[in-house]
Amino acid sequence: METATHEPRVTMDEIPALAKRRGFIFQSSEIYGGINGCWDYGPLGAVLKRNVKNAWWRDTVELRDDVVGFDSSIIMHPLAWKASGHVDQFHDKLVDCKTCKHRFRFDHLKDPAKCPDCGSKDAFTEPRNFSLMMKTFVGPMEDTAAETYLRPETAQGIFVNFKNVYQTARKRPPFGIAQIGKSFRNEITPGNFTFRVREFEQAELEYFVPDDGNDMAAFEEWVALRKAWYASYGIHPDRLRFYELTPQERPHYAKAGSDVEYLFPWGWGELESIAHRGTYDLDAHMKLSGKDLRYFDEASKAHYTPILIESSAGMDRTTLTFLIDAYEKQRWTDDKGKPSERTVLHFHPHIAPVQVAVFSLARNKPELVERARTIERELRGSHRTQYDEGNIGQLYRRQDEIGTPLCVTVDYDTLEDAKVTVRDRDAMTQERVSIDGIGAYLRDRL
Ligand code: ATP
Repeated sequence: METATHEPRVTMDEIPALAKRRGFIFQSSEIYGGINGCWDYGPLGAVLKRNVKNAWWRDTVELRDDVVGFDSSIIMHPLAWKASGHVDQFHDKLVDCKTCKHRFRFDHLKDPAKCPDCGSKDAFTEPRNFSLMMKTFVGPMEDTAAETYLRPETAQGIFVNFKNVYQTARKRPPFGIAQIGKSFRNEITPGNFTFRVREFEQAELEYFVPDDGNDMAAFEEWVALRKAWYASYGIHPDRLRFYELTPQERPHYAKAGSDVEYLFPWGWGELESIAHRGTYDLDAHMKLSGKDLRYFDEASKAHYTPILIESSAGMDRTTLTFLIDAYEKQRWTDDKGKPSERTVLHFHPHIAPVQVAVFSLARNKPELVERARTIERELRGSHRTQYDEGNIGQLYRRQDEIGTPLCVTVDYDTLEDAKVTVRDRDAMTQERVSIDGIGAYLRDRL
């Protein structure tokens, strides 16, 4: 396993504070004291998360001709969860400390005999199974016949529709079905901000391949593709690792598994899991439903069950990763010897909630305000923009803190030379660009 230094670059106090201050993420139902494991995305956070999902969707679905999109319901027939194994096996083991009464996930304890909160030795209760599935009732009767679950993963909606999809999309293995959607898990110990929550979004790709000896190659190819995906949006390579699961760590039916992990301020944490799941999922649904979900190969006139390669990534964890990875606190001495500092988010331009901020240098000069507002309106169709006005130092600090790559300022010289100042977030350099050419300039830079 590779190691990387655990940099105290950013703490888990700073990220939620910035997220709240700038409107990325708020505690859910805050005015009622909050609800554990649930969060709300504010104006910037909603766009940030949407950009992360769009990046995944674009690269996984739109830019490929072998993957189709999907959107299944959150509530499924309860038997789907019986077949998938979730009803019987989707448990975490829970222990309580008899001294401090705190509750822990057994597999998260560093020392299974010592309480991490109060230090008591051998004070845990016996591990008990705790179902992670959130139950609900469908219809007016709250009895067991009406009981079902909020899905704990999106994948099962894809498996039960496998035949519908391959027949209507006219796809033959190897091909994939992708979806992004909400999942729910009654986590015992939600925490680390939006890392472990009870309601979250997953982006899942189920890639079906024929049993022709190339299944492991397909698995390796997806691991490489997913590695490249994080890198292409600027995630720092030293803070990313791929952990190969040992046969003991994998489910019995899985031939291979690799977890994508990120070095969070509290240590390594899973972002995504990529697995070779054999024919387990389709077999399980065929067995319980009695319906044939096998692929019919026209060429050989034979039915077969395709092998599944799955990539399952948490969009909330990935959004949090982009926030943390982009974060930097910089201190320097300016030209006049004055110490300066700023907090900056180095978001990739495709991920940044605002791509271009357009400023008027003065609030009370209608010529400047009108010029700046016109430029912002014209850029809106091709970039995510924001208009602001006032003290330029403060405007830059605000945009740095929300990760806006470029700021365009209309100043007094603009009225003479029809040029604006473009300031680069990372290098803090400035350049004069003519208003006529600003659209092409920004397209090029972003
Ligand atoms: P963990 O071991 O962290 O509980 P897991 O192995 O149960 O995760 P999977 O079932 O493989 O997770 O789910 C795929 C992805 O869904 C995870 O890699 C993660 O990004 C996301 N995910 C799972 N549970 C949560 C959660 N409670 N909160 C946020 N994201 C989650």
